[in-house]
Amino acid sequence: MSPESLPAPAPFMGHADAELDASERTGTAGATGSVHSWDLVTAQDGPGTRMTLFLAGCGLRCQYCHNPETWRMRDGIPRSVEQVMDRVARYTTVMDVTGGGLTISGGEPLLQARFVANIFRHAKADLGIHTALDTSGLLGARLSDDELQDIDLTLLDIKSGLPETYRRVTGRPLQPTLDFARRLSDRGRTMWVRFVLVPGLTDAPDNIAAVADVVAGLQTVERVEVLPFHQLGRTKWAATGETYLLGGVKPPKAEEAEAARVIFRERGLAVY
Ligand code: SF4
Repeated sequence: MSPESLPAPAPFMGHADAELDASERTGTAGATGSVHSWDLVTAQDGPGTRMTLFLAGCGLRCQYCHNPETWRMRDGIPRSVEQVMDRVARYTTVMDVTGGGLTISGGEPLLQARFVANIFRHAKADLGIHTALDTSGLLGARLSDDELQDIDLTLLDIKSGLPETYRRVTGRPLQPTLDFARRLSDRGRTMWVRFVLVPGLTDAPDNIAAVADVVAGLQTVERVEVLPFHQLGRTKWAATGETYLLGGVKPPKAEEAEAARVIFRERGLAVY
């Protein structure tokens, strides 16, 4: 299936627009937030053993999303910053021993940017732990430069390097992500860039090369992770009432994933 033959963009952006609107209205103070779930992970979402906090709500609608259950803020559980910090504090010993920390993911966590900033401020000031933000970068402008100082690592998903493809994949424009990446780089903030390789959607060589060119122009990217598309989230789409468009797409072959990694390595990047 060529990218041109896929429907574009995702046809259900009205829900995503509503999420963005709601986050503008409710996101001012950030003393409480909408939390989807927690997980304790090792060798994922950053170094060491990490508490990953998944926030509810997303303003994108990626065709390959494997967590569509996190799309709506109202489906999360209200939690205060104090409640989150009490829970994170239970794991500081294992974080210290393993070089781990706290990762905030989603959904798109910056839909609740004030909540995220408050948690990271406490994580640094009160617990002194490593912090990571897993984001698409769409709403990076919601964080101030001061707030960026509380984030040790940004896991930045660059879902395409070409504006048209990016919109086809996510329903949103590419430029805010590029702007956020540049800002992180200019301010010396460390990034790991993630790119999901989807046959027929993101795997065109010119698209991969465009992502690689963007990354090669940044100064603070420690690694690139090329993540092969999988179908593990497929069954969750039924509950969203939305049409899953990638049902006929197979995961990329190992050699196809490796060929994509080569495009990044050719630019001197560390690739996993
Ligand atoms: S940004 Fe993440 S949670 Fe949101 S639609 Fe895309 S893959 Fe799903």
